[in-house]
Amino acid sequence: MKIDRIETFLLESPIDEPFGWSQGWAESRSALICKLTTDTGIEGWGECSGAPSQSVIHDCFAPLLLGRDPSNINALWHHLHHSLHNDNLAGGFGGGALSSIDIALWDIAGKGSGKPLVDLLGGPVRDRVAVYATGLYYREDPGYAQLIAEAQSYVEDGYKGMKTKIGGLSVAEDVERVAAIRGAIGDSRFLMVDANKAYSVSTAIDIGKRLEGLNIHWFEEPVIANDVDGYLKVKAGQPLALAGGEVWYNRFDARDFIVRRAIDIAQPDARFIGGISEFRDVAASANAMGLQVNPHVWGSSIMIAASISLTATFAPCPYARTPRPYAQEPVMEFDQTPNPIRNDLASQPFEANKGYVAIPDGPGLGIQIDETVLERLCIHKRESRS
Ligand SMILES: [Mg+2]
Repeated sequence: MKIDRIETFLLESPIDEPFGWSQGWAESRSALICKLTTDTGIEGWGECSGAPSQSVIHDCFAPLLLGRDPSNINALWHHLHHSLHNDNLAGGFGGGALSSIDIALWDIAGKGSGKPLVDLLGGPVRDRVAVYATGLYYREDPGYAQLIAEAQSYVEDGYKGMKTKIGGLSVAEDVERVAAIRGAIGDSRFLMVDANKAYSVSTAIDIGKRLEGLNIHWFEEPVIANDVDGYLKVKAGQPLALAGGEVWYNRFDARDFIVRRAIDIAQPDARFIGGISEFRDVAASANAMGLQVNPHVWGSSIMIAASISLTATFAPCPYARTPRPYAQEPVMEFDQTPNPIRNDLASQPFEANKGYVAIPDGPGLGIQIDETVLERLCIHKRESRS
């Protein structure tokens, strides 16, 4: 079996209601979808983001992939990784490009063998995966009515936890906003905050202390993403557990955070970390240091399928006779923001049932891509053939 064709589709879709976080304001959603086709007709799907990743896939990777056997994922991964490494392109858009290829290769391996991804990874250690609702972003209307209604809707839907944004307002205003959410959902739900790197160390320590009384389960990306010492200072200076890692691009980005325990919870994203292959190894390293791994997921059904299958295989951390989500069981991010790509690209979108999602059981990723949606949302397509 050989890789015969590589296609990429840069997708963009408007959304009905814009939303914001500390670093940006979304008025549309986008994704880069990658499709590998073998000479036997098997199609593997992957995903990352951004036009530069599209260039890497076709201009750098295509000559290294076309005509090669897709079944040796390890050899291809390292070959592609090191093709970029000397030029310092293995992170960023290069790391995203590699991630999308890796995910597509695993999809091909599953479809070729008739096995779901979770079985290729050695099988699940749980029969469903706990998820938390990511939403509660900043909106054009600064009032709390919409925010509170959204938070209460997650409680009614059965989520055990949810995550909101901080870092977009003053510290005092953000604390008041988080307090409004806590007041609306009661004390029995987990609540997490995400600054998306908006703070200096001193400001992060300040807001961490002020949030202490609101029973915040984790404080995500308090400071700039690669500042290990900054994380350690924030960890020592305030009481909240720290989470981070959504922009790690490989084991080398993750290494010091894990070894030095600069975080309490690791959150790699399979779109960036190097796909399923590298995520699995980084997750094992994090587990060895006692760090829970709760995947960051902000993509389409391709990423949701890959991330559920991975999460299903993570050991409880720490081990317990009756492991519980948030305490020992991993909890995967389940994005609730407006995103027609996420909702429409697969024939059947993923849905949570009382805070859990089912593990895909079809071959490979276990999803069917609706190619009419792919063509409709595509703003730039590229193709490479052998
Ligand atoms: Mg985040």
